[in-house]
Amino acid sequence: MHYSSSAVERAVMELSKLPGVGRKSAQRMVFYLLKQSPQAVNDLSTSLSDLVQKVKFCSICNNIAEEETCEICRSEKRDRSIICVVEEANDIWAFERTGDYRGLYHVLGGVLSPLDGIGPDDLHVKELLQRLDDSVHEVIVATNPSTEGEATALYLAKLIKPLAIKLTRIARGIPVGADLEHADEMTLSRALEGRAEI
Ligand code: ZN
Repeated sequence: MHYSSSAVERAVMELSKLPGVGRKSAQRMVFYLLKQSPQAVNDLSTSLSDLVQKVKFCSICNNIAEEETCEICRSEKRDRSIICVVEEANDIWAFERTGDYRGLYHVLGGVLSPLDGIGPDDLHVKELLQRLDDSVHEVIVATNPSTEGEATALYLAKLIKPLAIKLTRIARGIPVGADLEHADEMTLSRALEGRAEI
């Protein structure tokens, strides 16, 4: 269905490009926005254009930033001897929410995926290696437990191990509230591997 207003049609088209949003949901959003105050719609539009104008990537860790470096890299309270390697910047916020990690991060910008044509040069691997001087004592590889995430972890291990820096992989476990009998073998064997003393 096409609308008599090209502005409506264009908004539907743009919104339906977002992940998880089909044309139907995009239509619902546009009609919702048309019922809001012009101020509310302007606020949304400004917040989106600010993404382009104001958001940069940290020159050290590739986290999102509004300055040359991100808040975490600038903070004096962080332990600079540990770097946690993640796939995407939003993984950082998952770790930050736990409040348990005080080290620094490095965002790879994806994972190795030969099928999609993504090789080491497409990720921020070189920049990671450049950070690994004497001040770094541990690198934690926190890529996802997917096939690509595991392959990327192995690839990084091959590069980092010869540097004599402690290299760890986050333990996989049983989700809180889950039953052991429902866990798949991969999760269970990872949970066993990553067991800790109590
Ligand atoms: Zn940073």
